[in-house]
Amino acid sequence: MNKQRGLLIVLSGPSGVGKGTVRKELFTQPNTNYEYSISMTTRAPREGEVDGIDYFFKTKEEFEGLIHAGGLLEHAEFVGNYYGTPLAYVNETLDAGRDVFLEIEVQGAAQIRAKAPDALFIFLAPPSLTALQNRLEGRGTEPADVIAKRVATASQELEMMSLYDYVVENDEVQHACDKINAIIKAEHCRRERV
Ligand code: 5GP
Repeated sequence: MNKQRGLLIVLSGPSGVGKGTVRKELFTQPNTNYEYSISMTTRAPREGEVDGIDYFFKTKEEFEGLIHAGGLLEHAEFVGNYYGTPLAYVNETLDAGRDVFLEIEVQGAAQIRAKAPDALFIFLAPPSLTALQNRLEGRGTEPADVIAKRVATASQELEMMSLYDYVVENDEVQHACDKINAIIKAEHCRRERV
């Protein structure tokens, strides 16, 4: 039983940069050999979102219960809702020697940096703040006041970029996916050498 623990891969960046799109594209590729950790949230499901696939949708009380029971690896409040990563799933998967991929916002990524500094931290950056705002507006999933809050949060989130191992600009989805896969491959080679 000398199996090496899996790699924890953290993809973060501002809301609207396209983390979800990039993550979904990564997981449609046949050679993907990491597991996606489905997050918990108190946000209401968007049209088409399915409980247990996109998120585990929880009430505020259920989520706070999980926080108090120590059931989350990290959690954050983002524009009025809670988001968090289930601890048991991540630990079990890593212990089984498989890599785990998280797609989370920057406060949560900072918590993981403090708890698991050996994780791999990738920041997905927009070509510009204007591009980010256009994308949020074009997505049409949030009302104008929520978009304004997300854009305001994004300019603070961009300041965190220098704390990451890698910054990938999301100029084009497939291009960003290729870079992320190359980073993960390189990280494995680097760790195997150590
Ligand atoms: P959305 O409401 O657009 O699905 O997500 C809002 C933000 O929360 C996005 O930046 C998304 O990446 C982030 N997020 C999703 N799941 C988690 C999580 O488990 N923890 C943290 N900290 N952020 C998350």
